[in-house]
Amino acid sequence: MATTMPVRGRARLDTMPGPAARVSRPAVRGQLSRIGGAVSRTTATVLIVEDEFNIGKLVRTYLERDGYGVVWVRSGEDALVELERHAVDLIVLDVGLPGIDGFEVCRRVRAASQVPVIMLTARDEEADRVVGLELGADDYVPKPFSPRELVARVKAVLRRTRGQGARVDEPLVAGPVELRRDAREATLDGVALELTMKEFDLLACFLQNAGLALTRETLLEQVWGLEFPGGTRTVDQHVAQLRAKLDGALTIETLRGVGYKLVRP
Ligand code: CA
Repeated sequence: MATTMPVRGRARLDTMPGPAARVSRPAVRGQLSRIGGAVSRTTATVLIVEDEFNIGKLVRTYLERDGYGVVWVRSGEDALVELERHAVDLIVLDVGLPGIDGFEVCRRVRAASQVPVIMLTARDEEADRVVGLELGADDYVPKPFSPRELVARVKAVLRRTRGQGARVDEPLVAGPVELRRDAREATLDGVALELTMKEFDLLACFLQNAGLALTRETLLEQVWGLEFPGGTRTVDQHVAQLRAKLDGALTIETLRGVGYKLVRP
């Protein structure tokens, strides 16, 4: 159990590390950021997507040394899951991955967000760089690379993109409800909804899939990831809580024997 109050939008890194990812933050900063219950956004969180253990470990070490929070996953599929679970400021994305490759990950990320992406490409593969940049990657670093150079690129890309207001997601809107994943804020008629982290994620999932039938298993996977606390009854319980807080502003239909559906307003 977490001993501190969850901090809006950033809390999961401290309290809910997903089993698919190795989540770490610099210890000193982590403590500082909890003083007074407020979080300082001095540090950025980088998602590393790299299947090669030695490279992933090296990159993580250097980024942490420089004060970054790091989430490291080893496949494109895990990267997409983690992006739903964590607020991430930048992605270091290897092209050659098991399962879906880095290009496909980049394409899917870009379909939903402007989070900066640095691609790790094979040496001298100009085609890789061109494809990566066309897909919306912000920079590329050819392998083998010096970790110092990569950290420098991370800094440069963050500096460049932050000025442009990058990683601001489009708000999800349905009727009077508006939800911003980047700010971890949801409002009803402009008034803040007080949601727990899981209620927030559940609402985000419904809004993203408005009008679609969602099975309890899908909701479990999307909202709880690989941990299944209490199985599908957990979903029912959270849907009930969410309905109560929405106070009829949106209709979440129960589909008997299937799951739930957010009715488009
Ligand atoms: Ca690789």
